[in-house]
Amino acid sequence: MEHPTHDSQVVVVGAGVAGCQAAFEASNSDVKVVLLEEHPQVGVPSHCSGVVSLNGLSLLGLKPDPIFTQRTIQGAIFNPPKGDPVEVRTKSAVAVIINRMRFDQYLAKRAVGAGVSLYTKTRVSNFEHYPNGGVGLQVQGGPRFRGEIVIDASGAGSRLPEQAGLRSPDWTQLLPGLQYELTETKQQGDMVELFFGNHRAPGFFAWSIPTGDHSARVGLACRKGNVKKLLDELVKDFWPKSNVDATKSGSVLVSGPVDKCWSENFLVVGDAAGQVKQTTGGGIVIGGYSGILAGRAAASAAKSPQDQRWKILMQYDQDWRDKFSSDLKRMGIAHRVFAGLSDETLNRLFEAVRDYLPEIEEYADMDFQGKIISHMLRKRKFAALLPRVAFDSVKSIFS
Ligand SMILES: Cc1cc2nc3c(=O)[nH]c(=O)nc-3n(C[C@H](O)[C@H](O)[C@H](O)COP(=O)(O)OP(=O)(O)OC[C@H]3O[C@@H](n4cnc5c(N)ncnc54)[C@H](O)[C@@H]3O)c2cc1C
Repeated sequence: MEHPTHDSQVVVVGAGVAGCQAAFEASNSDVKVVLLEEHPQVGVPSHCSGVVSLNGLSLLGLKPDPIFTQRTIQGAIFNPPKGDPVEVRTKSAVAVIINRMRFDQYLAKRAVGAGVSLYTKTRVSNFEHYPNGGVGLQVQGGPRFRGEIVIDASGAGSRLPEQAGLRSPDWTQLLPGLQYELTETKQQGDMVELFFGNHRAPGFFAWSIPTGDHSARVGLACRKGNVKKLLDELVKDFWPKSNVDATKSGSVLVSGPVDKCWSENFLVVGDAAGQVKQTTGGGIVIGGYSGILAGRAAASAAKSPQDQRWKILMQYDQDWRDKFSSDLKRMGIAHRVFAGLSDETLNRLFEAVRDYLPEIEEYADMDFQGKIISHMLRKRKFAALLPRVAFDSVKSIFS
């Protein structure tokens, strides 16, 4: 059977945060946009914990909305491997917890309202260049979608960048992650809680995020060990009387960004481009903001002559890096060093943090962490720990 070909100007793959933002922005620039999503429902399944800073949300042109906002957050409690927790409480709310399924659906609805044609149950298998100059996507056993520019926003594991002549993020840097939606927990406050240590989450951390007065999203990602066993132990230790309402698995990307995010009539954005904070695996803000830039660039390129397009697409790559890459570089180094630390060094590090809490509360930024990382490294107590940190890092390479 002959399958139809759908024509448009910008074709976006993946209706996650990056794809929805890109499609919405391109459509607002008066081009015909299609958005292709493999699942029957946008936002399902969801793997994400849904922590987004208020500043980041505003960078995405959004405000907390009861449709997707579950809770407001005023800081974080850090649990070192041993000893008392360290609490960083901000003067006012700093973040929100979102229901990621509802968030993605909200963004997709907004994009459709702006004129985007959304196709669900549409799994893209191949990116193609056509002899007449256009580009397009092949859906497995289905139609073709032809356009002037393709944006790949299909998340971690995408193979489309390679087909477009680009490199993919280092997929070996995907850490296995698991989350439980807990109900009937003890009273939940307005703080996110993080747990560190090689007995808890070797090479990364575990988290507890309040979603209601007596419910929490508790998860864990790690470099070594059995993620389910570690998460079950954490739940048993801290919320022994709670119920596990739902289980979600998903891999946390800590690779850092790819070296090039554009090729001829093709852009890549979000997790597919490695646009994720390596310290936490958070990518909603960076991917969503880069989605806006990609949508704008794709619309402008689609309306321009072929020989002018490369400059516009290249500019997208420059623009998102101007905004985020200096912080991403420092976060990458911090993550690599942190991943190799012994429990003893982690304990000392958190002890040092305790002495600088007012500065951390004032300067820390959830999305742009480069400044606070550099600031802390200049502190005497942190500098004194550097030989230990270096020793642990070298040791971890050989263990
Ligand atoms: C356990 C966990 C917790 C996390 N917690 C946070 C957090 O608290 N805060 C934060 O900022 N980030 C968090 N992240 C990271 C965040 O979820 C991602 O960075 C973000 O979702 C990336 O958005 P995206 O649009 O690039 O990709 P995705 O959200 O993965 O969206 C990609 C979309 O493309 C679709 N798709 C895939 N392949 C195809 C195909 N071939 N054809 C058509 N459609 C396709 C998928 O179905 C999906 O809808 C977490 C990640 C994990 C795993």
